[in-house]
Amino acid sequence: MTLSQHFFELEEDTWGTHDTQFWGLEPDNSGEGPDCPRCGEPIGPLAWLPPHRVRLELYGQGLGDFVRGPGGGNSFLISERFAEAFRTEGLTGLLGFHPAEVLRVQRKRKGPKPGAVPRYFAVTPCYSRAAVDEAHSRIRRVEPVTCPECRYSGLDSIHGYTLEPGTWSGEDVFRPRGLPGSIVVSERFAELVQRHGLTNMKLIPTEEFVWDPLRLGPPPAPAPCV
Ligand SMILES: [Zn+2]
Repeated sequence: MTLSQHFFELEEDTWGTHDTQFWGLEPDNSGEGPDCPRCGEPIGPLAWLPPHRVRLELYGQGLGDFVRGPGGGNSFLISERFAEAFRTEGLTGLLGFHPAEVLRVQRKRKGPKPGAVPRYFAVTPCYSRAAVDEAHSRIRRVEPVTCPECRYSGLDSIHGYTLEPGTWSGEDVFRPRGLPGSIVVSERFAELVQRHGLTNMKLIPTEEFVWDPLRLGPPPAPAPCV
């Protein structure tokens, strides 16, 4: 573990060559979502319980190794080769690995017929002790953060963030305190993706990650210390 570990926000490669989505086909298999042990507020979406029956929607040329979609709650799908690489190389932070059953593949944009459908597994990223460094991040909150445990309050925008030094304990995939909607990955994860050519993932350095649906722009810089 180096001192200057870089982290990345994990996103789907929408419009990419392996753009794929899934739809959960079981209407009633949501479990409870996580609540903050201190303030009791919900900090994440409901759990997605087995059986994981899905329809895949193929927007790219071929099926992706990383697939998200409605009905997945706090989980997503990874292909068998992704799961094997992840486990063989000893990466951490993904839980579950429940087999998913693909009932149908539907092509949504022009392209070749979908080839063989790989086996997929439903996985859930862990909630980490790693915490967003609020003072060194550019985040607009709806209200100031009050709970020191979950450090969550509603979000208006993100224009880059970093993690508080010393809070990360080495997970390769996780949701950080303060931004439980984000999936953050390590350098080791980024190397795995590159070395195995895993598809439908975009890794954005957290310092450069922008989420600004209301187009508010970056928050004003804090006043310099005098
Ligand atoms: Zn809390």
